[in-house]
Amino acid sequence: MLLLLDLDGTVWRGTEPVPGVPALLAERVARGDTVVYVTNNSLHHRAAYVPRLRALGAPVTIEHVVTSARATALYVAGLAPRVERVLVVGSDGLAAELREAGLTVTMAGEAGPAYRSGMDATEAAGRPQVVVAGLDRSIDYDRLAVAAACIRAGSPFIASNRDPVFPTERGFEPGAGSIVAALEAASGVVPVSLGKPEPLLLHEAARAAGLPLSDAVLIGDSLHTDIPAARAAGIRSVLVLTGVARAEHLAALEPGARPTAVAADAAELARVLDTLAG
Ligand SMILES: [Mg+2]
Repeated sequence: MLLLLDLDGTVWRGTEPVPGVPALLAERVARGDTVVYVTNNSLHHRAAYVPRLRALGAPVTIEHVVTSARATALYVAGLAPRVERVLVVGSDGLAAELREAGLTVTMAGEAGPAYRSGMDATEAAGRPQVVVAGLDRSIDYDRLAVAAACIRAGSPFIASNRDPVFPTERGFEPGAGSIVAALEAASGVVPVSLGKPEPLLLHEAARAAGLPLSDAVLIGDSLHTDIPAARAAGIRSVLVLTGVARAEHLAALEPGARPTAVAADAAELARVLDTLAG
C-alpha cells in the first residue's frame, strides 16, 4: 500500500515522536508498503525533513517527502503550456524547491522596491507566468502590492496551502493562508491551492512515489485538512487521535465526512492498516 503520512500530530508532536509510529512505519516498509510524508508546511526544502525523520527511526528518502512547497514546484513545473518564470511570495525553502524543479524565480522582496519606485509590476517581477504564494515571514506591503498587480495583469495565482494559522510555542501565528487571503482580496482572484484539504498535494505525492493514488491510505490527525483531502482525492483515510482531533469531534460529522477508520495510538493504527491491506 501507499501510505501518505501527515507529520505534525501524526508522526511527531513538536520535537517528540508519537510513540510507536516511526517503528510501525519502518515495519510497514519492510513488509512492502511505501511511505510518503505529506505536510502543508511550505517553509522548508524537503531535505530538511530527512535527518529529522531518520533520527526517529522512520523510513525516509528525500523523494518521499512531499511538502506543500515541493508539491507546488512539481505542479508548476508540470503545467502546460510550459512555465519558466515565477514570482514568489514565500520562503527561501519554497524558492529552492521551485528552482530545483527548473523554474526561474523572482522573489517579491526583490521586485517590491522596483515596483514602488515606478517600474511596471510585471517588469519589476521578471515577467512572471505564474505567481506562487506561501508563508513569508517577512511579508510587507510592497511584496503584496507587486504580486497582486501581477495577478491582476493575468498571471495565474497558485498557493502552497491555505492554513490560516500554525501552532508555535507562543500560540497560533499567521500561516500561508493569511498571506494568500490578503493577495486574494487585493487581486480579486481565487488561487489554485496545493495543500490539504485540497487533493493536489496527495496527487503530487503519489506521482513522486511512482504509484497510483487510488490504492493509497492517508493517515492524519486533522478533520479539517487531512480527512477532507483524502475524501477529495477519493482515497481511504485513517484519523489518528494523537494530534488535534478528539473522538468526540467525530460524532458531529456527516457520515460522508468521516474517515475510513480511527486509531487512538500506534498499536491501533497497526491493526487498522492490517485490515485495510486485507
Ligand atoms: Mg497534522
